[in-house]
Amino acid sequence: MAGIRDYQAIVGEQLIEEIYELARQLIGCRVQHINSTFAGGGVAEILKRLVPMMQEAGLEVRWDVIKGDEEFFRVTKTFHNAFHGVPVQITPAMLDTYRRISRENYDLVEPRADFVILHDQQPLGLAEIRPGHPGRWLWYCHIDPVDVDREVWDFLRPWARRCDAAIYHIPAYARNLGHRQYFMPPAIDPLAEKNREVSSSEIAAVMERLGIPADLPLVVQISRFDRLKDPLGVIQVFRLVRKEIPCRLVLAGGGASDDPEGIQVLQEVRQAAAHDPDIFILELPPTSDLEINVLQRVAAVVVQKSVREGFGLTVTEAMWKSRPVVASPVGGITVQLIPGQTGLAAATTGEMARALVRILRDPALGERLGQNAREHVRKNFTLPIYLKRWLEMLTAEKN
Ligand code: UDP
Repeated sequence: MAGIRDYQAIVGEQLIEEIYELARQLIGCRVQHINSTFAGGGVAEILKRLVPMMQEAGLEVRWDVIKGDEEFFRVTKTFHNAFHGVPVQITPAMLDTYRRISRENYDLVEPRADFVILHDQQPLGLAEIRPGHPGRWLWYCHIDPVDVDREVWDFLRPWARRCDAAIYHIPAYARNLGHRQYFMPPAIDPLAEKNREVSSSEIAAVMERLGIPADLPLVVQISRFDRLKDPLGVIQVFRLVRKEIPCRLVLAGGGASDDPEGIQVLQEVRQAAAHDPDIFILELPPTSDLEINVLQRVAAVVVQKSVREGFGLTVTEAMWKSRPVVASPVGGITVQLIPGQTGLAAATTGEMARALVRILRDPALGERLGQNAREHVRKNFTLPIYLKRWLEMLTAEKN
């Protein structure tokens, strides 16, 4: 696994020195991250690399996952949808389930932690025990809370308020909770298996294994099978594009243990694809970093047709690989994709199809967008920059 100094060639020496300077004041500081899954989805992706990097910087870091039953994850997925403005039905039994599982997880909290970081809403109920704990508690909201359902927010807000501060990806997500707020977009690890450079023979081997021919341009969306990623919309877009220019579609994604809706959505996607030989639907196991890397690299265009998006790490990953991205201008995608410069934005099915055709017909445009995209990610959304932001935030909270 890469160490902090290995990133110098990407982010420059000064940033690495700034990291060590900041870390000096935090050596031995105990940090506990708590979320709801070790694999699948953006938060697990972030923690997988952030935790060892913080440890290397000299902090004592733990990563724990709350334990819940299927019912609990149904409830928290409903809350997740409710954050994204999806109409939901909340019953008293659901709220009881959330309270019960939160109670069962109180023991998970490290009593000596200087910082307890609760990621998203699944572990937020643990903040019930904040008053008796000596550390600083931070709620890191990775999703877009702007249109959160009132009932769900009224239920969760008291725990969010119990935390000492909140972290959001972008200023547009700020909530008025009466405590300090930080804005910290996440980042990708350019040296991890998912993002590292890949040789042409590795690419060929992976594509052969996946059974995807290389004779036509590929349109690719990598995402959990989630309605908010609009995979059915991607199929509609693809069918419009294919009328104009021959190409194939790859929809690839796996599940996450905290997302019980994935299987159903995958079925709907298979039905909509209706055995179309030009649509490849890949159900990926959690060990598919190289496959994802390769699919993003071979794509003529990467799409992300999300209805809502907390940040959209799949967009960052594709941009880092200098791929042209066409995405819905929602949530965190708006700080990554500068329309016409680092990618193309498309708000509707028709717009997205037109943007794809434009890039597929004009490879020079795709090349230019891709180069700008990589530079934008290098400057703003790579792991060392993220680590530095973390260290600055912890320093501010400590003092
Ligand atoms: N991902 C993965 N396997 C999959 C689907 C997604 O490893 O089958 C990764 C993807 O590469 C990205 C993260 O999970 O790093 C998804 O983060 P994003 O912010 O795009 O969406 P989220 O799933 O958090 O809504």
